[in-house]
Amino acid sequence: MSEQPAFLNFINGSFAAPASGGYFAVHEPATGQIYATVAASDSRDVARACEAAEKAAPAWCAMPTEKRAAILDTIASKLESQLERFAQAESKDTGKPVSLARAVDIPRAVSNFRFFAGAIQHFASECHPTSSDVLNYTLRHPLGVVGCISPWNLPLYLFTWKIAPALAAGNCVVAKPSEVTPATATMLAELCAEAGLPPGVLNVVHGTGLEVGEAICTHPTIKAISFTGGTKTGARIASVAAPLFKKLSLELGGKNPVLIFDDADFDAMLATTLRSSFSNQGEICLCGSRIFVQDGIYDHFKAEFVKRAKALRVGDPLDASTEQGALVSEQHHAKVRSNLDLARNEGGTILCGGEVITPPGRCAKGWFLAPAVMEGLPHACRTSQEEIFGPVASLYRFKTEEEAVTLANDTPYGLASVVWTRSLDRAHRVAANLHAGITWVNCWMVRDLRTPFGGVKQSGVGREGGWEALRFFTEPKNVCLKLS
Ligand code: NDP
Repeated sequence: MSEQPAFLNFINGSFAAPASGGYFAVHEPATGQIYATVAASDSRDVARACEAAEKAAPAWCAMPTEKRAAILDTIASKLESQLERFAQAESKDTGKPVSLARAVDIPRAVSNFRFFAGAIQHFASECHPTSSDVLNYTLRHPLGVVGCISPWNLPLYLFTWKIAPALAAGNCVVAKPSEVTPATATMLAELCAEAGLPPGVLNVVHGTGLEVGEAICTHPTIKAISFTGGTKTGARIASVAAPLFKKLSLELGGKNPVLIFDDADFDAMLATTLRSSFSNQGEICLCGSRIFVQDGIYDHFKAEFVKRAKALRVGDPLDASTEQGALVSEQHHAKVRSNLDLARNEGGTILCGGEVITPPGRCAKGWFLAPAVMEGLPHACRTSQEEIFGPVASLYRFKTEEEAVTLANDTPYGLASVVWTRSLDRAHRVAANLHAGITWVNCWMVRDLRTPFGGVKQSGVGREGGWEALRFFTEPKNVCLKLS
């Protein structure tokens, strides 16, 4: 045990053991082995972090924007220079292919800091000249101390997506990464201190959602909660934080539809649909898990898609040729498998995949699963309606555009959607009619950090990204000035 790293809390600029003195095991999903421990913190650690953040807030808020932005830029550069170290750590912690962490997760974390370092220098507030002698202008003050709670699927990517705008806007942060994947947030906290972030401005408290997450959501010092995670957790957070009048941004689950029309560019669509179904083992909130294919190309698509899904290389995340790594935990692996059993009982046919994979060598005890493609599920059944969050995609046949849009909208979720068509008219029409926070047309996961990001219905409340994030992390105050 002593040789294993222990991921400690980071409070007031230094690492700190949890008040409880307890630790949880951290597993490497690819091997199923414990490789580290993480602080099992509780409300006492959250209280210490809030105290440190509150103390640091006046100076951080008063720091000239340009100087704050320069610190965030330095964090971005330092992270970039250690990209490989962070990518290795992310892959070990999550089971994702290191090639993915190298190409997506860590570069995006770098961009999050760089983007908001720039954005805050262009952020402006409104002025409303009411009449010749009355002027209204809006001040945007930082909120003070905010809480950021993030999930395990894209640990550093989503952690930084929250803390970068919060810090840029002049807030101090108490953050909780998922205790399932605590590595890179801990490494980042240290790197932030090296980059000149003053003590107390960013505090990281590890532990469970119930112990630490709820303590953050209910602590009186915390003025806002930015949360990304499951819909049930989001509902719980809203139920404890809303009566305390905290600002809330909730980025929740999805059951995203992909609508493929007969006239789609078949090759581009096939390649991208493979990615949108199975990237990161399907553990991305934006993955398309319900694939609606128009009658004319359904059989051709099904044959090709199954062939390509079967050919995906599942194995050691450290192997450069691996396309699918391990699922994040034994519990999640079991949950995805039980959903496949449920799908069979609900009338689905598994066209390929779903079986446990046992790679040779060091990964023999890892949590691997062959990417699964299903068809024949009624659309109203649980496995068509509920998020599985794994390498599982379901095919549905449709005839008309209206039918496709109706089915696509027929879930409690509304996060992302994808449309494949060569018809510009149809693209606009369908995009406007889909109930989702984002619609990609003839692409997937093309991201511009300036655009509003978030979901409708049970996929969330509020938007992140660009000005939306900076507005969330600031309080508008109108000043009405009557000139004499
Ligand atoms: P969870 O909702 O289980 O957890 C997310 C975070 O919230 C974790 O840090 C968790 O801690 C914490 N948490 C759990 N319970 C509470 C609570 N009562 N109060 C405060 N915090 C709590 O999600 P997962 O980690 O399982 O992530 C997967 C989910 O995230 C999927 O549903 C996915 O769709 C969604 N997601 C949404 C995205 C979006 O942008 N809309 C992006 C990425 C993922 P702990 O680890 O202890 O449970």
